[in-house]
Amino acid sequence: MKKILLILFLVINLDSFAQDPQLPIIDIHLHAYQGVPPNMKASWAGESYAQGLSSPENASTHLQMVLDEIEKNNIKLALTSSTSIKALETWQQSRPELFLMGIQTDDDGKPILSPDSLKLYFDNNKVNALGELGLQYAGIAPDDPMMEPYYKVAEDYGIPVCLHTGLGPPGGPHTFAPKFRTTLGKPTLFEPVLVKHPNMKAFIAHAGWPYISETIAMMYIYPNLYADIGVLNWALTKKAFYTALKQLMDAGFGKRIMFGTDQMLWPEAISIAIKAVKEAHFLSEDQKRDILYNNAATFLDLSEETIAKHHE
Ligand SMILES: [Zn+2]
Repeated sequence: MKKILLILFLVINLDSFAQDPQLPIIDIHLHAYQGVPPNMKASWAGESYAQGLSSPENASTHLQMVLDEIEKNNIKLALTSSTSIKALETWQQSRPELFLMGIQTDDDGKPILSPDSLKLYFDNNKVNALGELGLQYAGIAPDDPMMEPYYKVAEDYGIPVCLHTGLGPPGGPHTFAPKFRTTLGKPTLFEPVLVKHPNMKAFIAHAGWPYISETIAMMYIYPNLYADIGVLNWALTKKAFYTALKQLMDAGFGKRIMFGTDQMLWPEAISIAIKAVKEAHFLSEDQKRDILYNNAATFLDLSEETIAKHHE
């Protein structure tokens, strides 16, 4: 009897392993907060975004909920940005091997560190990326002269850049982001910057949705340009997400699409976003692996040793 139970146990476990091998994932787009911005909670047109997902009351429960999701989904690395240096420190200290940190822009659209400080923080491994740059929220175009010294530092020192493009929360211009303009999210507005900085390592967040044809134009002409699928994979209708993803895959960018969540105040979005990629019927298993891990590993220049460790 014991033997039968043991065999049964092994069979069930082998089976669950085959269905869900829990391969590692990189999330290239998370956010950390210092406190929970009340205006976001109150007005972020949440209904269409959050869809009944629970939202934590304060920063520490937010971090804990994100860590639970990370554990559950075998996320091994997460590029997390914030408007608060304190929040970046808290998150990095909580799991130094897990979090890479990025600096966001403040309400006026300025990155929260000066170009010199960015370089200093980068050298000391306290900041690993420039962005997510929410210039669109402040009514600023990506090629605004104010940004030039930042792009130069990023290009010179190999600091990854994440530019917010495309959509924002419905109702934003009438609530928390009066200067937000839809058309400032067009991916082609990034072109002058890429022309000037051919070696800059950059990705466009949200793949520029709904301007997918512009994203295709940009990724075609600029082979260094990557894109993430944050928000599209949990806040849009599944049909809209799959249509956009399929267009990008069909255009031949399967090696440059990176998984990101952009969980904001709703950590449970992480699981939903991963599930949406895993269930995309038009993707092969290899393509899913590229999106969920390999492409970000290439973008971030991870060492073979780190990649092997993530696969242990
Ligand atoms: Zn964004």
